[in-house]
Amino acid sequence: MPFLQKRFYKDSAYRDTGSLSKTASPSIDLPAKTNLFNLSGSSVKKSSRTANAMTVDVEDYFQVSAFENYIARESWSKLECRVERNVDAILESFSNKNIKATFFTLGWLAQRYPHMIKRIVADGHELASHGWEHIRVFHQTPEEFRADITKAKQVLEDTSGSPVLGYRAASYSINKTNLWAHDILREAGYLYSSSIAPIAYSEYGIADAPRFAHYRSGEKKVDGPSDDAILEIPITTMAVPTKNIPCGGGGWFRLYPYHLSKWALQWVNQHDKQAAVFYFHPWEIDPEQPRQKNLDWKTEFRHYQNLTRMESKLDRLLSDFNWCRMTDVYDVYAGRSPASTDSTVTLMQR
Ligand SMILES: [Zn+2]
Repeated sequence: MPFLQKRFYKDSAYRDTGSLSKTASPSIDLPAKTNLFNLSGSSVKKSSRTANAMTVDVEDYFQVSAFENYIARESWSKLECRVERNVDAILESFSNKNIKATFFTLGWLAQRYPHMIKRIVADGHELASHGWEHIRVFHQTPEEFRADITKAKQVLEDTSGSPVLGYRAASYSINKTNLWAHDILREAGYLYSSSIAPIAYSEYGIADAPRFAHYRSGEKKVDGPSDDAILEIPITTMAVPTKNIPCGGGGWFRLYPYHLSKWALQWVNQHDKQAAVFYFHPWEIDPEQPRQKNLDWKTEFRHYQNLTRMESKLDRLLSDFNWCRMTDVYDVYAGRSPASTDSTVTLMQR
């Protein structure tokens, strides 16, 4: 068995709580943090070193789903691109705080900005797939989806020289209507997906989906890992008596006061005893981005609210918690036979 693969198998110990989060292992590069969870007046005061997953959905300001009806895909290549400079700023910030993260990146961007991809990987971050050009899965046929995720994986791997194990659907667009996507993701060689929001929210989300990492085979949740099951790692929510509330990033993070987000994530770590999965976009730290005109008020609010405050909020978040790559927090190789991981191991060694 190749060395790297052996190492991942060795790290497959889980907590007694049934969590899929890894216990500390030699492969986890944990940033040193000691002053966590000190929110005064809260019942969650004790120190913790919970490893949470920090993720970045790498897309530019004109590629967001909310702009689909305003900006034609055919015009993307003529628009001012700001993703490279924004990703550079994120890389610098992560480097200053000794944080390694996972970058779910569009294949479309990897093809045009290969140096950006190489910088992400050179800094020790995990490169993952955000599909080819941000088409939501519920707008694709199974055949279109297969072509999309296969092409994105191939281009990301060829550009970076690193295996791409993870996938995140555009706008969390795997819902109850397209759970077939899980089988296609496994067949294409992905080991995990972070594409279900366990909330009830207009087009996306599955309100009664499990809130934490679990295995799925096709439409079914299954008990454990196997070659045909994919690990789904949902974006973090907080459970209140009647529903789940999003607290894992996006527009919600910009909307809430920082202390509310911090408290919710602490609650997940301390009371649910689970890792949190957080996400943001490069365009969210860029208040100078070209402003799209004639938007409806809801789209305008969702995209532009509190952009000027995002960087300072994010800075506090990065300092207040312990952030790692998805593959540090979750053992994505668990239960895979050597045959199912051969291609990724080969890629890691070349
Ligand atoms: Zn996206």
